[in-house]
Amino acid sequence: MNAPEPKPWIMAIDPYKPGRSTTDSGAKAVKLSSNENPLGTSPAARQAFASAAHSLERYPDASGTELRDAIAAIHGLDPARIIYGNGSDEVLHLAAGAFAGPGDEVIYVNYGFTVYPIATRRVGATPVVAPDRDYATDVDAILACVTERTKIIFIANPNNPTGTYAPRAEIERLHAGLPGHVLLVLDHAYAEYIEGSDDDGGMALAKTASNVLVTRTFSKMFGLAAERIGWGYAAEPIIEAMHRIRLPFSITIAGTAAALAALGDTGFVEHTRAHNAEWRRWFAGEIAKLGNAGIRAVPSQANFVLVLFEGELTAEAAYKGLMDAGYIVRWLPGQGLPHGLRITIGTEDDNRGVIAALRRMSGAGAGVEADAG
Ligand SMILES: *Cc1c(COP(=O)(O)O)cnc(C)c1O
Repeated sequence: MNAPEPKPWIMAIDPYKPGRSTTDSGAKAVKLSSNENPLGTSPAARQAFASAAHSLERYPDASGTELRDAIAAIHGLDPARIIYGNGSDEVLHLAAGAFAGPGDEVIYVNYGFTVYPIATRRVGATPVVAPDRDYATDVDAILACVTERTKIIFIANPNNPTGTYAPRAEIERLHAGLPGHVLLVLDHAYAEYIEGSDDDGGMALAKTASNVLVTRTFSKMFGLAAERIGWGYAAEPIIEAMHRIRLPFSITIAGTAAALAALGDTGFVEHTRAHNAEWRRWFAGEIAKLGNAGIRAVPSQANFVLVLFEGELTAEAAYKGLMDAGYIVRWLPGQGLPHGLRITIGTEDDNRGVIAALRRMSGAGAGVEADAG
């Protein structure tokens, strides 16, 4: 063959499919397909972003000092041990790039985040999928997959697209069962949405263990998905290796300014957290009322709910019906969930509208009952 040939492991990648933002008919619709913040972003972040228009000719600070210092101050971390990237997606890719390659194995769970197989195959490593337990992370199943060739385990906690959460004791048990050569990556994209003050203990592990990387993002709770800023925390040798392959200017001046302002606006974060907790509870309660129609919600600790259609109304029909009603959600046949819709928690109007449409389609009636809840 007389043409450049891509690497076979690159051609084995199933390209990432983002949440849709347009409907089949082109009619305007509410986008509940990418877990974005329905309340927007902090006004302070908007303002900081706008003022960055004055320095478009400048390169950003290649060491991200201001951002690392601000994150470190808020979370009580060592700024030297913070990596950052173009979204936490880039940080996940850096971990794969620095710690896995051809012949190595990378473990993630069935119904895991779709970036993990891409990051794994990109570096020529072999994906190993651990079975789930009723859609949730199963620590024993993961431990059973670990071999001498295992280099990385990717876990999103809470997980996307299932919304399930592995509690602290489980994460600690997983870490305790791992050989030291395995890097445990705990993807905390939705950590801010967990109910209660507890987290999964990931950051505490990252502070002390030599093989734990926690990743965080400004895309979800902080409402800055457009600006692509994520970060990670781990032992210094892990971070140092990742910095070697990081693009020197992966985050922008405007994005950094917005992130710094967003960090300072705790009011916006608290408001988002309270809104999400209230409406996630309401949404799950309304879905529970559709149990007779074979519809159920997987318990979620994130800003979305995975709804399963196991009765007469199929997920595909519900997906199309919701689109006709003006709501774009995520149907997941490509992720082994042809019976599932991932629905982002929206504004009050959005949530009530989605439930009313689902009631209508499932034959439960549109009405009064749903609104009384
Ligand atoms: C949204 C998401 C991310 C982060 O995305 P970035 O915008 O790249 O920071 C990471 N992991 C999971 C599981 C997500 O759902």
